[in-house]
Amino acid sequence: MQEEHAQAQEESNQRPLDSSVEDGVAMAMGQSLVLIKPDGVQRGIVGRILTRFEDAGLKMVGMKMAWIDSSFSRKHYDAHVDKPFYKGLENYIVEGPVLAIVFEGLHCVEIIRKIVGPTEPRKALPGTIRGDFAHHSYEYTDKAGKSIKNLIHASGTIAEAKKEIALWFTDSELHSYATVHEKHVF
Ligand code: ATP
Ligand code: MG
Repeated sequence: MQEEHAQAQEESNQRPLDSSVEDGVAMAMGQSLVLIKPDGVQRGIVGRILTRFEDAGLKMVGMKMAWIDSSFSRKHYDAHVDKPFYKGLENYIVEGPVLAIVFEGLHCVEIIRKIVGPTEPRKALPGTIRGDFAHHSYEYTDKAGKSIKNLIHASGTIAEAKKEIALWFTDSELHSYATVHEKHVF
């Protein structure tokens, strides 16, 4: 009996996905870049932040710690360099090392933005990373001439994710492996 059970399990592990399921997975699967900004690293909450993404079943395919300079900040935040808040943002992002992570999963960019919450921690709901671990407001930072400190960067669109991943990681720094979610979700 036990042998039959083991054989059935082995077959189930090897069963190929239905082709329509495969098409759906291929359509929805994507990657996104997350940065735990210097305040997240310095506060020692990297583990608690990463747990949120791991709990949702997202797969970590690349990770590195980096202390970026002004020139790299201008590349990463090129859409913001001409905005009034850019100087404060650059000072913030270069003030210490950041942790860069590439996650992979279904609707990855959208799901990660949902887990992270909106830009202004004051407005971010409890349950989101920015809502649970930060409380800065534009009202305060505008007057203080600071950047909004919100712990985390997450790619805003699929196109932004592709560009940012290519900026932060080489192909050989991104890994391919199977997770238990791939067995039970797909
Ligand atoms: P990120 O790109 O870091 O994930 P986001 O997409 O939520 O954040 P963006 O509009 O791309 O928001 O702004 C980039 C970062 O610049 C914000 O996360 C925040 O740290 C800072 N920032 C944005 N707008 C302001 C502002 N009006 N005043 C101060 N800082 C700001
Ligand atoms: Mg952004």
